Amino acid sequence: MSSAPKGRHIAVIGAGIIGVCSALSLQREGFRVTLIDRGEPGEGASSGNGAIIGDEAVVPVATPGMLWRVPGMLADPLGPLAIRWSYLPRLAPWLLRFMAAGGARRVEEISIALAALMDGALAAYTPLLAEADATDMIRRTGWVCVYESAAGFRRYQPMLELQRRRGVPFEVLEPEALRQLEPSLAPIFDRAVHYPEVGHSVNSLRMVQVLAGAFQRNGGTVHRAAVLGFDIGPDGPQAVRTEAGPVACDGVVVAAGAWSKPLAAELGAPVPLETERGYHVQFPDPGIAPRLPVYSTERAFVATPLELGLRCAGTVELGGLQAPPNWARAEVLATHARRWFPDLRTEGASQWMGFRPSMPDSLPVIGRSPRFSNVFLAFGHGHCGMILGARTGAVVAALAADRDPGLDMTPYRADRF
Ligand SMILES: Cc1cc2nc3c(=O)[nH]c(=O)nc-3n(C[C@H](O)[C@H](O)[C@H](O)COP(=O)(O)OP(=O)(O)OC[C@H]3O[C@@H](n4cnc5c(N)ncnc54)[C@H](O)[C@@H]3O)c2cc1C
Repeated sequence: MSSAPKGRHIAVIGAGIIGVCSALSLQREGFRVTLIDRGEPGEGASSGNGAIIGDEAVVPVATPGMLWRVPGMLADPLGPLAIRWSYLPRLAPWLLRFMAAGGARRVEEISIALAALMDGALAAYTPLLAEADATDMIRRTGWVCVYESAAGFRRYQPMLELQRRRGVPFEVLEPEALRQLEPSLAPIFDRAVHYPEVGHSVNSLRMVQVLAGAFQRNGGTVHRAAVLGFDIGPDGPQAVRTEAGPVACDGVVVAAGAWSKPLAAELGAPVPLETERGYHVQFPDPGIAPRLPVYSTERAFVATPLELGLRCAGTVELGGLQAPPNWARAEVLATHARRWFPDLRTEGASQWMGFRPSMPDSLPVIGRSPRFSNVFLAFGHGHCGMILGARTGAVVAALAADRDPGLDMTPYRADRF
């Protein structure tokens, strides 16, 4: 793609946090941008997540210690991981790559690549939210990770070491210090780790909506239609084919979250993308007001205070894009929440399931398609899409304008497997 953005038209597929931030950043760069989604902006995985936006997520999902604990997690009905066994044959190639990513040396490399992307991720939201007149959408309260057992805390030591090596600021807390930091918690925790720099969105769906609103106010177009494929010329896609007709364009950004795989494949980038399904339960009138989000590594969920109440979001279910939700997984979160917060009011609770777009090595795919220079890939952010939305958008816009994104893009290439 030419380095002169002026007047060139880019179609961004997917109006989740990644697509909307990419669209806004491309627009700021001078491109004409159409954002295409089959639904309303933000209604995918970006709507119901844990809303955590911090720069400290430098530990990949697959780690040596984690892989050994998988059988125990699967056996526990209240555990953080579930597999739809009928989906296992389709999942197997991804699982093998996931396990390969969990070796000690690879974990170190992945962690370095995650840290490079995380660097400045929270600050990258500032200009976008200022544009949307919504800088109050992110609160920088820090967050605290709690451990119910001494053994759980001991098991996490290698991860703390990894964070220490990446320069993540944190402080280990004894039970009394945790009680002072977050008095609404039950005295059931053996240890906690406080990360003071972490932020969270007060409402992840509304945040995507206000950013999409700013994009439209600046002259951007939102085209509501499902994308079916592409009209491809000698130099790459010339139009995006949608249910509502073609959208002619000079370039394409694929930011369709967990649904990106067939679109990327058609544009020359076959990738091992899967989904890690996750759940939330949200208490609209919780009767408590935690000062900061509380996370459990052992239970793999976060309780985040939002403008909508208290949301408990997380856990992983491997089962593909088609299977219906298993709401028992959301019930598990409610069970833990009642234990954590003895004064929690649970009336009117709602449940949600979302599809994390997950690569086996916990690194997103960001960069040009190996086949077409006018195609940019921006998906696979797994557990960290909220954190990385603005940062990814800035990188995509720099690449599209042929500017140096200020980052070695090699670890995020589509053809790294
Ligand atoms: C339970 C849970 C908790 C989480 N907690 C956090 C957290 O605390 N912090 C964090 O950083 N991340 C968290 N995540 C991960 C985060 O939500 C995702 O990484 C992020 O939302 C992905 O954004 P996205 O824009 O790539 O995808 P999405 O938000 O899913 O957007 C993709 C969009 O593409 C559209 N689309 C797909 N295919 C097509 C098509 N063919 N035609 C037209 N439109 C199409 C969809 O309609 C959708 O709107 C969590 C996820 C879950 C499930």
